[in-house]
Amino acid sequence: MRPLRRLLPLAVALAACRGEAPPPREFDGPSAFRYIEQQVAFGPRVPGTAPHRRMAEWLESELRPRADTLVVQRWTHVTTKGDSLPLVNFIARYQTGAAQRLLFLAHWDSRPRADAPTSPDSTVPVPGANDGGSGVALLLGVADVLKRAPPGIGVDLLFVDGEDYGDFTATPTDVLIGSRYYAAHQVAGPAPLYAVLFDLVADTDLQIYQEGNSLVGAPEVVNLVWETARLVGHGGTFIDTPRHTLIDDHLELQKVGIRAIDVVDFDYPAWHTAGDTMDKVSAASLQIVGDVALALVRREQ
Ligand SMILES: [Zn+2]
Repeated sequence: MRPLRRLLPLAVALAACRGEAPPPREFDGPSAFRYIEQQVAFGPRVPGTAPHRRMAEWLESELRPRADTLVVQRWTHVTTKGDSLPLVNFIARYQTGAAQRLLFLAHWDSRPRADAPTSPDSTVPVPGANDGGSGVALLLGVADVLKRAPPGIGVDLLFVDGEDYGDFTATPTDVLIGSRYYAAHQVAGPAPLYAVLFDLVADTDLQIYQEGNSLVGAPEVVNLVWETARLVGHGGTFIDTPRHTLIDDHLELQKVGIRAIDVVDFDYPAWHTAGDTMDKVSAASLQIVGDVALALVRREQ
C-alpha cells in the first residue's frame, strides 16, 4: 500500500450502539500468531522466488481442509520491465450456495525492496511479519473457526498475490495485481454485501484508525466495523477517527462496485523496512482484530 498526502474533511456519523451482548470469544490469537511465524520462516514471499512457491504450496495445503470449497486462480503477470511472474490467488469459500456473503481479504506476497524513506537499505526484501504476514494469519485464524463452527451466511476468504511487488507511483500496474485480477475474474454467484481488507493488523502497538478511501467508498461499512469493534470491547483499538488515506487492494474492489474497506494500522515504523520482523507483532493484537472479524460474521447470521 501507499499513503496519500491528503486529509479528508469527513464527518462520520457514529452508529448508535445497539446494546447487544458481546459474542463469545472464538478466535485464537496465539494459534493465529504461529501462522505469522510459519510465513516468516519461508523467507520473504517475493513473487518469482522459492519462498513464494513454498508459501503458495503451504497456504493451499492449509486452506483445502478448512474451506467448503477452495478456488485457486493462477496466472502469469508480465511486469513493466518485462519479467514474467507466476501469481496465485486463493479463495476459501464457506456456505458456497448462500446468497448473503461477506468477503475478507489480505495479501500474501512480500515486498521485494525495503524502500521506505526510513529504510537504511533498499536492496533487501521485506520480511513481512506484519506486512502480508499478519493479514494472512488473521484469515487463517478465521478459517479455523469457520471450519469448527460454520457461518450462517456465506464467507469468502480471499488471499491475493502481488500486492506489493512494484513501485506504487512508477509502475502502478505492478502493485495490487492480485486484487485487480480477482476484480476481473470474480467467482460466479452473488456479490458480497461488503468486503474488508486486513493488513498490518498485528503491530504490538495496535491502533486502527479509519482509512480515508474507505470512508469515501464505503462509509457505512466503516461504521459497521467500528461499531462492531466497540460492541466486542475493542473500541479502544478501533478509533473512530480518520487518519491515513491509502492506495491499497480495497480500491480495486471498489472499482467493480464492491463495498470494500481497509482495516490497517499504518502507524508502523518498520513498514517497508528489513525490520518488519517477529518482534514487532503480537498474538494479543491479532486477537483483537480476529474478535472483530468473527463478530462481523456472527452478527450477519
Ligand atoms: Zn507493503
